[in-house]
Amino acid sequence: MEQVVIIGGGPAGYTAALYAARANLSPVVLTGSTIGGQLSLTSEIENFPGFPESLGGMDLMDRMRQQAERFGAVMKYEEVTSVDFDPGAHRIRTDQGEYTAKTVVISTGSSPRLLDVPGEDTFFGRGVSTCATCDGAFYRDRKVAVVGGGDSAMEEGLFLTRFASQVWIIHRRHELRASRIMQERALEHPKITFLWGSVVDEVLGEAAGVTGVRVRELETDRVDDLDAEGLFIAIGHTPNTALFEGKLDVDEQGYILTDRRQHTSVPGVFAGGDVQDHVYRQAVTAAGTGCAAAMEAEKYIAENGG
Ligand code: NAP
Repeated sequence: MEQVVIIGGGPAGYTAALYAARANLSPVVLTGSTIGGQLSLTSEIENFPGFPESLGGMDLMDRMRQQAERFGAVMKYEEVTSVDFDPGAHRIRTDQGEYTAKTVVISTGSSPRLLDVPGEDTFFGRGVSTCATCDGAFYRDRKVAVVGGGDSAMEEGLFLTRFASQVWIIHRRHELRASRIMQERALEHPKITFLWGSVVDEVLGEAAGVTGVRVRELETDRVDDLDAEGLFIAIGHTPNTALFEGKLDVDEQGYILTDRRQHTSVPGVFAGGDVQDHVYRQAVTAAGTGCAAAMEAEKYIAENGG
């Protein structure tokens, strides 16, 4: 029987692991395949306190993992396939085995949302992407488009200017949701052109990949084909909670409901990070709630005959 099993290896999971390991609980972290979580796909982190010079997302995640391992956390690169919550002995099955745990910390994060337009599926991975950091370098001296008006879209757009000759940002409204500093950087960039009040109707392409993006202006219904060879979708996320359907209380968008101390609706099961937060969704808030979840798990074990 494990004391603490942590599902998910992003900033919330690794911070929970660090705190649980330092509390002598020998946590097991089931990281799944996206090791380091979404942050490991982010190019540059400028707002994690303590790193005034900024650092790469992968680098930050490596450091968090090493720090947790230094105190005895065990990383298992296993994918969780099902869970059965039973206070006292929660069961977690993975693609490689089964664990029983007194407490569970869920930190499975969230995944990028897609547009659901013709061509998106067909060309996913062949011109359609949700990760400029991963795929941006393929677009040297080529034209690309980004969809979205939040910080992610600005970040993707700005990152793509390193390679692409032209970046369109397509946003459905006339006002951005992104933070002021990111807006200013994107609005001032000579390679970026904004297409306001517009949506993507279709991704156009041939066998080799994307050849264009069909954009419609909402007010006029005017349709234009951009000769973009890449489309980066940055329209937000959905929580990774399919595993927990019907087993924990979630809100109408599927985010796990926690109280102010990271308790879920099941005793001994805690949650931290983006899987339970659709408001802040920052590396530092994920780390904070991961820390709180581990401290609550420690308290729960002590109070329930650890
Ligand atoms: P977000 O803030 O929720 O923005 C999503 C954007 O996509 C919005 O502009 C939204 O339009 C648009 N959108 C949603 N569904 C759409 C659809 N079906 N078709 C077209 N457009 C659609 O998400 P995010 O940009 O991923 O940011 C999430 C959080 O992470 C935020 O708290 C953000 O501050 C943070 N973040 C921070 C940084 C940074 O600090 N460097 C970087 C990335 C993310 P509307 O505006 O019309 O709703």
